[in-house]
Amino acid sequence: MRGAVLHAPGDIRVEQRPDPTIEQPTDAIIRLAATCVCGSDLWPYRGIETVDGPAPMGHEYVGIVEEVGSDVSTLKAGQFVVGSFFASDNTCEICRAGHQSRCVHAELMGTIGTQAEYARVPLADGTLVATPELPSDDLVPSLLAASDVLGTGWFAAVAADVQPGKTVAVVGDGAVGLLGVLAATQLGAERIIAFSRHESRQALAREFGATDIVTTRGDEGVAEVKELTNGLGAHSVIEAVGTQESMMQAIRATRPGGHVGYVGVSHDVALPGDELFFSAVHLHGGPAPVRRFLPELIGLITSRAIDPGKVFDLSLPLNQAAEGYRAMDERRAIKTLLTV
Ligand SMILES: [Zn+2]
Repeated sequence: MRGAVLHAPGDIRVEQRPDPTIEQPTDAIIRLAATCVCGSDLWPYRGIETVDGPAPMGHEYVGIVEEVGSDVSTLKAGQFVVGSFFASDNTCEICRAGHQSRCVHAELMGTIGTQAEYARVPLADGTLVATPELPSDDLVPSLLAASDVLGTGWFAAVAADVQPGKTVAVVGDGAVGLLGVLAATQLGAERIIAFSRHESRQALAREFGATDIVTTRGDEGVAEVKELTNGLGAHSVIEAVGTQESMMQAIRATRPGGHVGYVGVSHDVALPGDELFFSAVHLHGGPAPVRRFLPELIGLITSRAIDPGKVFDLSLPLNQAAEGYRAMDERRAIKTLLTV
């Protein structure tokens, strides 16, 4: 099969890879309906995260079940399925508490590489959620978004304790931040302040329900949020970047007693204990347990209550994955969908 492989920073190639096979009786093989490039794929692409030798890429996926292992009982060939970037058994104590991304048997789909024609999905019964029927083509981008960026934005909003009547601020205008705006709207936020300096992203944030746009960042941006909230800061802040600056911006934009939901993959973030102590904010986040939210999100998508697929503003055939990465790296595209 064909699949995207990172050879060195900036060097993505689509090449022949071995067809996946059932390795464990709990595995399933899926034929990808579509896949995409994640903001987190840009860390190794930019050389900020080092990669050892050629690495298969991609961890977002939707597709049709081709084959299941002998222990898989809830899925069968021909079903359309959505899964998360972590395979999980969905039965251990951590999973049952809703933290499937930290399942005691979790396996990272990124090491399998789903920017490809086929993929092996471990722990298929726990990992994959089938749609009630085969979705129409126009729903595929939104279902693909559910597999990571929507599920992650949704978790960020839940972790930030977004509730009706609250004021929410969102740090990061990538796909996750924008879908954090959508999640906050769905969860009933009264006011949603999006940080963004890009016109097209501001427009999408407004479409997803942002009521205010702040174009400054860092402490200047924090001051603007305070101005908009009677000097107090937001009740709930979503952090969707993962840098020192964005994390401190999120904590400082949160009022005492408020909640920060942080989902940007942390890169060398170090929190000053004394500032954290006196901020009196709640912090919750990490790799999103997307699996927890998939049944609800699939329902919202198939009933056309939400259209998160709008974050894909570039669609290319898998063979042009390299251009898809470049466009995101240069911020010409919010998110690239790859057709298979
Ligand atoms: Zn588990």
